[in-house]
Amino acid sequence: MGRAFVYVILGGGVAAGYAALEFTKRGLSPGELCIISEEHVVPYERPALSKGFLLPEGPLYAAPARLPSFHTCVGANEERLTPKWYKEHGIELVLGTRVKSADLRRKTLLTATGETISYKILIVATGARALKLEEFGLNGSDCDNVCYLRDLADATRLVDVMKSGAGGNAVVIGGGYIGMECAASLAINKIAVTMVFPEAHCMARLFTPKIASSYEDYYKSKGVKFVKGTVLSSFDIDSDGKVTGVNLKDGSRLPADMVVVGIGIRPNTSLFEGQLTLEKGGIKVNGHMQSSNSSVFAVGDVAAFPVKLFGEIRRLEHVDSARKSARHAVAAIMDPNKTEDFDYLPFFYSRVFAFSWQFYGDSAGDVVHFGDFSGNTFGAYWVNKGQLVGSFLEGGTKEEYEAIAKATRLKPPIEDLAELERQGLGFALTI
Ligand code: FAD
Repeated sequence: MGRAFVYVILGGGVAAGYAALEFTKRGLSPGELCIISEEHVVPYERPALSKGFLLPEGPLYAAPARLPSFHTCVGANEERLTPKWYKEHGIELVLGTRVKSADLRRKTLLTATGETISYKILIVATGARALKLEEFGLNGSDCDNVCYLRDLADATRLVDVMKSGAGGNAVVIGGGYIGMECAASLAINKIAVTMVFPEAHCMARLFTPKIASSYEDYYKSKGVKFVKGTVLSSFDIDSDGKVTGVNLKDGSRLPADMVVVGIGIRPNTSLFEGQLTLEKGGIKVNGHMQSSNSSVFAVGDVAAFPVKLFGEIRRLEHVDSARKSARHAVAAIMDPNKTEDFDYLPFFYSRVFAFSWQFYGDSAGDVVHFGDFSGNTFGAYWVNKGQLVGSFLEGGTKEEYEAIAKATRLKPPIEDLAELERQGLGFALTI
């Protein structure tokens, strides 16, 4: 049994949705494109899962986000692509189906249902999976009240567990953005939250201690507790298979009615190991998002691509990069001669409680803070080798975010850090 397509997108997440839109804008013919996804729904804006999706029901809140409201490509103010849209454009959807092997020499994919799907051009958009406790030698992922958060099924389960744990204690393992966003949502749902992570402060890969303490202070004011500098050592599990307590390496124990684990992700490259060149844990591509096999492109979290601005290959795990790299790959596939190399300014954002921040560029070098850290608007610049390379802003306006993005892209020379600190946000606004 087999079907053949000109283009196949493997994976049905954010990048797949934005790639599909770009194909149709560039003149896709019906029957040419197929999307294969392990998920049962058409592509959606994954960031909604840790934000609007987890909001409680009730008079104080807008109704929690549910599909179809956040299908791609609403996150970039584009058309919302519903199942009907794919049908109208003659795009074949193979949902709820895992691809179990890829033969790049024959240009075929074999699904878990036994179907062989062949392509002329393959776009790999398999994203990443959540790292499991077992990969760190710990047990408990299969307990009824232990949750991860990567896809709609995880988020639906998290909401169910949250409802059954209402009024109880949650332990969030991991201080990255998944941990931070989940902790905020749990607190909003009136669950007592303790966050546990090994670093000295939250969001350690990006935040400076000063930035982190602003957020941590606010979380504390909402009842969230922080246990830092230690890690999980084991769970206490009752006879029903539920975690009742979390034991930490420092010898302490936290009571738990539920646990959320956000300890990082791993790109889904396994189908291509030995067939494509890998780098930085992802599939290495050129400025056209083309891999070491000229018929195979890779986009989104799974792609390691040249970031021109910093002159090096990077793999980013952010939604904006997924959207833009996907569109760029399709431009390069359909219009190769008119498509320049991808020139991307790394961008990441998060929203927790009433906070909202954006970060552009690179968090390397010396840091200069600015703004009122006890107020609503504050930020930081990163200066490396005499140039501005990164900018962070909390609580900015649209114009202010555009200004820090523009300033970061320009990489202006910075001679005097004290002067940059004095100018603060004004530096970006006047550049
Ligand atoms: P994904 O969206 O993960 O899609 C991958 C798809 O491939 C999935 O549908 C998966 O089922 C499918 N797949 C994988 N392997 C196979 C296979 N073998 N066969 C069939 N299908 C397969 N980024 C931000 O910048 N800001 C945020 O606030 C933010 N919030 C987030 C919140 C959450 C809860 C999560 C999980 C991520 C968040 N991100 C955020 C990151 C962002 O969502 C990702 O960078 C983005 O989804 C990557 O898109 P992608 O298409 O590469 O991968």
